Amino acid sequence: MKIKIIKKKLSNKEPTKDISRDDIENKLPLSTSKNKRLVKLSKDIIFGSNLIPVIAGPNGVESMELMVKVAKQLKKNKINIIRGHAYKPLTFPYRSKHYSETQSKGMDIMDTIKKEFKLKVVTELTEIKYLDRVLKTADILQVGSRNMQNLELLREVSRTKKPIILKRHFGSSLRDLLGAAEHILVEGNFNLILCERGVSIPHTHRSTSRFALDVQAIPALKEISNFPIISDPSHASFWAPWVPPLTYASISAGCDGLIIEMHPTPKKSHVDPLQPLNFIEFKKLINQSRKLSKVFGRKII
Ligand code: PEP
Ligand code: MN
Repeated sequence: MKIKIIKKKLSNKEPTKDISRDDIENKLPLSTSKNKRLVKLSKDIIFGSNLIPVIAGPNGVESMELMVKVAKQLKKNKINIIRGHAYKPLTFPYRSKHYSETQSKGMDIMDTIKKEFKLKVVTELTEIKYLDRVLKTADILQVGSRNMQNLELLREVSRTKKPIILKRHFGSSLRDLLGAAEHILVEGNFNLILCERGVSIPHTHRSTSRFALDVQAIPALKEISNFPIISDPSHASFWAPWVPPLTYASISAGCDGLIIEMHPTPKKSHVDPLQPLNFIEFKKLINQSRKLSKVFGRKII
């Protein structure tokens, strides 16, 4: 594949750890441009406005039965976007009957759910070879944190012109995140949503918690970029009881959307069972979030 080489006058006079003026002018011109960027899924579902769209669902598309239960709950709570991965990057290479990807079968399930319940679909693309199948169903393609700098994948998803969620790698600076975003933007796709999903830190205060939500990344990114920035408190905390407080912190910090993992019986979730909210907890979280977002002139949808 032909790769575009873009020549720019790079001074590199002041190489820095964080984003410098030189970076903004020469290396991140698109991701830091002053134009306000909205990502519209429909006339009522818009990222980057006063709305805060919620993307919710289980970790993986385990079965039709699971996705129907989840979709019904989303409808009850007036949430419009369902998530669930049929292709999943996992930390370890081993699989079992209950610990595997449903792949194209899972995508077929998502297809049915999308049509029956009129929900928008967010799902992860792990490799270019799955792009055609994922594209048929997804309304937003998710690039997971582990693939944040998979530059060939970024170029290919950009070319689809579909909305993209780019998750920040848990060890990445905002400079690297915007560098990855720039790879998408330079290919011409501006339907970009950035996602803070927790970073690695020496202590997380619980042995089950691997990351800490970098709430500060939300205002920091807003200072330099005009793309919507959403928060994923579920993957950040790994621990359901912490998801509500981190959600409220994200709303207060100005997030433009949320990713919340939920499952009818979290303990039975095939992956990361400590992380999803159950349906009662989810309902409470949405109700509280609606009240809180009003304080800031925003609206949970
Ligand atoms: C996910 O959203 O299910 C996921 C795996 O997220 P992350 O890439 O942030 O770990
Ligand atoms: Mn997950």
